[in-house]
Amino acid sequence: KADEAYLVGEGKKPIDAYLDIEGIIEIAKANDVDAIHPGYGFLSENTQFAKRCEEEGIVFIGPKHEHLIMFGDKVRARNEAIKANIPVIPGTDGPVKDIEEIRQFGREHGYPIIIKASLGGGGRGMRIVRNEDALEDAYNRAKSEAKAFGGDEMYVEKYIEQPKHIEVQILADDHGNIVHLYERDCSIQRRHQKVVEVAPSVSLSDKLREEICEAAVQLAKSVDYLNAGTVEFLVTPDEKFYFIEVNPRIQVEHTITEMITGVDIVQSQILIAEGHALHSDVIGIPNQSEITTNGYAIQSRVTTEDPANNFMPDTGKIMAYRSGGGFGVRLDAGNGFQGAVITPYYDSLLVKVSTWALTFEKAATKMIRNLREFRIRGIKTNIAFLENVIKHEKFLSGDYDTSFIDSSPELFVFPKRLDRGTKM
Ligand code: ADP
Ligand code: ADP
Ligand code: MG
Repeated sequence: KADEAYLVGEGKKPIDAYLDIEGIIEIAKANDVDAIHPGYGFLSENTQFAKRCEEEGIVFIGPKHEHLIMFGDKVRARNEAIKANIPVIPGTDGPVKDIEEIRQFGREHGYPIIIKASLGGGGRGMRIVRNEDALEDAYNRAKSEAKAFGGDEMYVEKYIEQPKHIEVQILADDHGNIVHLYERDCSIQRRHQKVVEVAPSVSLSDKLREEICEAAVQLAKSVDYLNAGTVEFLVTPDEKFYFIEVNPRIQVEHTITEMITGVDIVQSQILIAEGHALHSDVIGIPNQSEITTNGYAIQSRVTTEDPANNFMPDTGKIMAYRSGGGFGVRLDAGNGFQGAVITPYYDSLLVKVSTWALTFEKAATKMIRNLREFRIRGIKTNIAFLENVIKHEKFLSGDYDTSFIDSSPELFVFPKRLDRGTKM
């Protein structure tokens, strides 16, 4: 559908092609490209890529180079939060030198603790340790996972039991204006990865919502942030909130914020990169006090994974693809079409289904209806699992936290239906 398309990384392996910085820069220069939007995949937080764009006079649509460095490293990010007076989870001051330092931390603060790779992301590079006996094994595994992120630096935090994951969408222009577009509740997770997201959160009090959103803006202001970003927090059952990280890019789940605020975040990113002010007629975002939300939105991440087989990614050709639709339904489907071949080389995200309605209950009903309307044949998907999540009473009542999927085996009971996940 693009006006022009070019092949990047010809002859290279899939991942190498995807990460081919020089290949992309070369094509951009040959075609007088003046700006690049890096999306939310691998290069979106890549400081080297942002630097190369800068060197070639190409605008990198995102925050400043320094923000990518600051927030790509979780230890540095944590220190920025401390400087900005935002509550952080009790943790080590910096990277740990050895296992002995972690043992000391565990004795001082008690278990459970979580070991995190400083450069980790996408839910990878984290290990929960429930007691000292389990420490050595967890330490070794965390270390080898951390290496996959290009550095074995790790730090340690207290592990918060049954928290909610609440994150705040930030937009900042080059004229000193910074606003938030309220929060998303991303507590429905599997292996620390988001599965279903909701905006606004159903269970936050207005007071807590305001405090968290203000904290996010405070941090963005203190680092003179630019463009779109997300500040992530964990909220405890007794309503304390703690900073966990900043994602200095557009996120997968930005769709639901767009639905409840009416702000096109990706378009705003491009206009900000062009130098426009948030409150200018071109972008048209009002002052913070006038930014409101309307109704509720839910996003489900449909993946080509088999929920009945430990979410094993499936590969093959999509033989039939029919989606749902209708008022208040948004579909973001890259390779979701008949004839598409799903390879094992990339993320298994197939289509994002987002629904909007005036009430949360109606948005959920619409989501269930839409998931049921999907017909995807030739490849397994997690649609039946998503439906089980959305219709679960805990989900509908807002009474869930990040442990929901792991503690709800009933989500894995599927009705026998031939039109789901059946190979033809
Ligand atoms: P979000 O917080 O929006 O869910 P993630 O941090 O999960 O964002 O990453 C967004 C996308 O970036 C993922 O869907 C994936 O495609 C890609 N990604 C990020 N980190 C990794 C990684 N370590 N391995 C593979 N893909 C990754
Ligand atoms: P990533 O870069 O992979 O997104 P995050 O630091 O944002 O890593 O953490 C991802 C998820 O892992 C959180 O949403 C939460 O569910 C869990 N998590 C991270 N840190 C903690 C912690 N200290 N206590 C409990 N859960 C945590
Ligand atoms: Mg995160």
